[in-house]
Amino acid sequence: MPSIFTKIVQGEIPSYKVAEDDQFYAFLDINPNAKGHTLVIPKKEVNRIFDLDKETYTGLMGFSYQVAKALEKAVPCERIGMSVIGLEVPHAHVHLIPINVMDDMRFIKKEKLSQDEFVALANEIAESFE
Ligand code: 5GP
Repeated sequence: MPSIFTKIVQGEIPSYKVAEDDQFYAFLDINPNAKGHTLVIPKKEVNRIFDLDKETYTGLMGFSYQVAKALEKAVPCERIGMSVIGLEVPHAHVHLIPINVMDDMRFIKKEKLSQDEFVALANEIAESFE
């Protein structure tokens, strides 16, 4: 069965898209630690990040770099934190989180956003993506 993230890539499940190319897809986390919390995934479905072939892994890191640069421009924050977990969704992904305090990297403190806020954020980040 395809992962929930594969369904997002295929448009079967909606997402707030931030950026995309032929191999990678970036979208806002639906239950964000902080405003702008973004997930970056390879379109190719592989469960564990270190099971990706090396080229896809380095491509994912390069694409995450570009997304982080856009996040820095669009979302005021101290810096962008990066984390890889994957215990909930078995499809390799990088969390990019605009952080101000250490707690922003803990998956306990959550930010509630309206649909309009999600849309506005995704658009702002997408506009800064190069
Ligand atoms: P992890 O697998 O790294 O433990 O966490 C998965 C992350 O994916 C969580 O932060 C969760 O909020 C996010 N997530 C789970 N399902 C969806 C979804 O359907 N859409 C979006 N945008 N994010 C999701």
